[in-house]
Amino acid sequence: MPRPHRSTTTRDRHRHTIARTQPPCGLCGDPIDYTLTVLPDQHGQRCPGPLTCRGCVPHPDRYEVDHRIPRNRGGSDDLTNKQASHRRCNRAKSDRTDGGPIMRRSGSLTRPR
Ligand SMILES: [Zn+2]
Ligand SMILES: [Zn+2]
Repeated sequence: MPRPHRSTTTRDRHRHTIARTQPPCGLCGDPIDYTLTVLPDQHGQRCPGPLTCRGCVPHPDRYEVDHRIPRNRGGSDDLTNKQASHRRCNRAKSDRTDGGPIMRRSGSLTRPR
């Protein structure tokens, strides 16, 4: 029996599984508009060109998968550790769990000769 093609990763599968029931944001509790993708008519620096592109800047309120326990804190990649979130909530959360802004100590990196 042929197996289904492997273009769907576990990550994608979980993403769709969570979106199927269209739950509210697990971080702020507000509903998520699952139709949001990008900000229309806004383009990033790497945009191939506004003529062919229909928007490439992620919508801040779009659906993203949040890890309840962040991966860098030992959280698993299982569905049980995942929940729906707004992109902006997800971003705000990961900023917090990182312990604030990243401190760059200039000069700590030695340049190879
Ligand atoms: Zn939210
Ligand atoms: Zn674009």
